[in-house]
Amino acid sequence: MTDIIAGFFAPWIIFAVILLLHLALPARRVDGYVRDPRTGSPLRYRLNGPLVLAATVGLWALACALGAVPWDWLYTHRWAGLAGACTLGLAFSFAVVLTAPGGGKPFLVEFYKGRLANPQFLGGRVDAKMFLYLAGATMLALNILSFAAHHAMRFGPDASPGVYLHAALFLWFVVEYLVFERVHLYTYDLVAERVGFKLGWGCFTFYPYFYAIGLWAVADLPDPRSPTWLLVLSAAVFFAGWSISRGANLQKYFFKTSPDRAFLSVLKPRALRDGNLALLCSGFWGIARHVNYLGEILMALGLTLCLGRPGALAAWLYPLYYVALLLPRERSDERRCAARYGALWDEYRRRVPKRIIPGIY
Ligand code: NDP
Repeated sequence: MTDIIAGFFAPWIIFAVILLLHLALPARRVDGYVRDPRTGSPLRYRLNGPLVLAATVGLWALACALGAVPWDWLYTHRWAGLAGACTLGLAFSFAVVLTAPGGGKPFLVEFYKGRLANPQFLGGRVDAKMFLYLAGATMLALNILSFAAHHAMRFGPDASPGVYLHAALFLWFVVEYLVFERVHLYTYDLVAERVGFKLGWGCFTFYPYFYAIGLWAVADLPDPRSPTWLLVLSAAVFFAGWSISRGANLQKYFFKTSPDRAFLSVLKPRALRDGNLALLCSGFWGIARHVNYLGEILMALGLTLCLGRPGALAAWLYPLYYVALLLPRERSDERRCAARYGALWDEYRRRVPKRIIPGIY
């Protein structure tokens, strides 16, 4: 029973440690893309994601190395941990929605989507959205490490190289996301989302636990003896997706922050302009209007493929989730852009007719 209680509250304690580290460690202060409606100036953010990740993983590794907890503790307590994270996500969502003034929509809609657009706390030291993403990413990294450790402890020298590859690629995914967290300030998540259940529960529960579903499904299974070519192919699919996604996001970030700067020092931006607004229509943004979403889906596919278990249906939920998330998001972003950019967007659609997959869709 005490074990279940410890497992339940472990994510609460870990999220509290992440918050304290976020507050205590040095951070860069940067301008965001979103503007403060009261002043009209860009919102300011304190960012220190990579440091917080390194410190949290370091503390966890120290606790394991000193024998305070086994390396696979988060795996053996995963159900209790999931329940604890779920309760915390719900409590946070209620707190953040109920304490904000209503916007006139049905309560369930406001609870799901949130009421506040950009809440910041402690005199602006903590931005709710950026903290939620940091907390989710860091907890995900701990889960991935602990789930992989369980596999290693159980199978020793017969462990599956695919599990190690999956864990390594996932850590890459988390680390690079935090290294580029400033670019995240220019994405839909920060610009268009509000803080409610979707983001609160999503980052405290869904992100750190559902994203680990592949390892959750296979950590207790023996090595499937995947051929080397499959592992190489999986990593190639993952990195192809990463290059597309990160490349597109960076290209747009540079375009928004310094519109005339050449991307990667070679690609001069080609843009459609109407005097007021501008849309990139070269490079990644010239081959499909949301090729970055293709990149995300390819990364998820690579992560699942390398597990070498096509029959493990749970592991396929991960890439399927991206398809289910990003296809409707592309449609809603399309509507948002058509309304914002008007005739310029029509011209962009004419020049770049494909939505996500160049030449196909
Ligand atoms: P985008 O990065 O595609 O951003 C869309 C916005 O970019 C539009 O609303 C518009 O905003 C601007 N824009 C669109 N086309 C152009 C153009 N041609 N030139 C200039 N600006 C343009 O989408 P998201 O913000 O949804 O996604 C960002 C990243 O995050 C993606 O790579 C996505 O896949 C990833 N992501 C990752 C998830 C994960 O769990 N790993 C989950 C969800 C997303 P504006 O009006 O400001 O110009």
